[in-house]
Amino acid sequence: MTAFRPEQSPPDVSIPIFICSRVYTRIFRDTISIMIGEIHCHTNLSLPHWAHRNLATPKELVDRAISIGLDFVAITDHDTQTAFSEINVYALQNGLVLIPSVEITVKASRLPNKRPHVLAYGVPEKIHSRLPIDETIDLIHVQGGLAVAAHPYGVKFSKVTFMGTDLIMNNNFDGIEVFNSYEDELANRRAYTVAVEKKSLMFGGSDAHSIDHLGLTKIIVDIPKTKNWQDILEAIRVGKFSISTKQSLGGSKTRKRLSSTSMSILLSSLKGKAA
Ligand SMILES: [Zn+2]
Ligand SMILES: [Zn+2]
Repeated sequence: MTAFRPEQSPPDVSIPIFICSRVYTRIFRDTISIMIGEIHCHTNLSLPHWAHRNLATPKELVDRAISIGLDFVAITDHDTQTAFSEINVYALQNGLVLIPSVEITVKASRLPNKRPHVLAYGVPEKIHSRLPIDETIDLIHVQGGLAVAAHPYGVKFSKVTFMGTDLIMNNNFDGIEVFNSYEDELANRRAYTVAVEKKSLMFGGSDAHSIDHLGLTKIIVDIPKTKNWQDILEAIRVGKFSISTKQSLGGSKTRKRLSSTSMSILLSSLKGKAA
């Protein structure tokens, strides 16, 4: 097995792209058993250095999710899980399911200058940040949660969050985030390539640090409507999902073009396990 190294140019991986429109989604979502969600987004509870980013409150985020038609959301605040307990009752009362989640800053002895991020889904109990990456993944699994490598080749906010191939291949992740709306194409393709090699579940999310970016990348789960986040998590665990997203937005210049991006793309290669 040849590991793909971040310093190499990525191979020309052509990610199959299937064009679909919002209209298509709107028409068929009520006739088939699917739930549409967002699994990478932040509120103003994200700590501590992210707080300056004019983030939405948990209630604002929930209201926005409902207004754009999402069925469920995993709020993945940085190193805090308080949004779930703060807003879950309100969300459920208004028809939105929340999955208790968090984006955890971890340590990696092989990369002493880095602080990679691990997305944890289905973790109602507190998990401390800045623990070794393998220990963090074990703590996620103890709760029955899913551990996903977040933007593993990303350098969008800070190069310090870079994870790289070695840590992906040598840790017990349940999945890899291969599409992150903020990352550039190179970073996403690198993640995709290593996910194929590892035969990993492939995830995608908006990584919304602004309420306007919520739902840019959506997860479509093959499951009848439910109010039970555990059911949604189990469907995701076994790969009953696909990712619908807009073009890569990575970089500040392209971020400005967000509002003019009208076409959705479905990365059919993200569906379930890699072939
Ligand atoms: Zn992150
Ligand atoms: Zn994030």
